[in-house]
Amino acid sequence: MSVSDEFPTATKTHTHPSGAAQFATAANVFSLLSDPTRLHLVWSLARGEADVNTLTEASGAARPAVSQHLAKLRLAGLVDVRKEGRRSVYSLHDGHLRRLVTEAVNHADHMVSGAPPHD
Ligand SMILES: [Zn+2]
Repeated sequence: MSVSDEFPTATKTHTHPSGAAQFATAANVFSLLSDPTRLHLVWSLARGEADVNTLTEASGAARPAVSQHLAKLRLAGLVDVRKEGRRSVYSLHDGHLRRLVTEAVNHADHMVSGAPPHD
């Protein structure tokens, strides 16, 4: 299987070589995702948009902490927010983040469960 088969949307859009700015920005994304609660929030949003109440319940974290994490993720451009009446509904900014966080947690599941590796 070629890289373009595995990442069809990525290879069509990203044809230029990655440089220092891309690596620094990607490292910042990993830095933001290095907090387990924040990772849990982003992983939840990879499954669909959600409001603070839903995310608080899903993550088991305190609501003020969830709000702070969401603000930080939004400031960094990883998360978008829209108003629905009085409710703020959060979503992931793009499919790259959705795939990244899903793969990270799936990888971790192999490490935790001992399930055999696969490509
Ligand atoms: Zn797997």
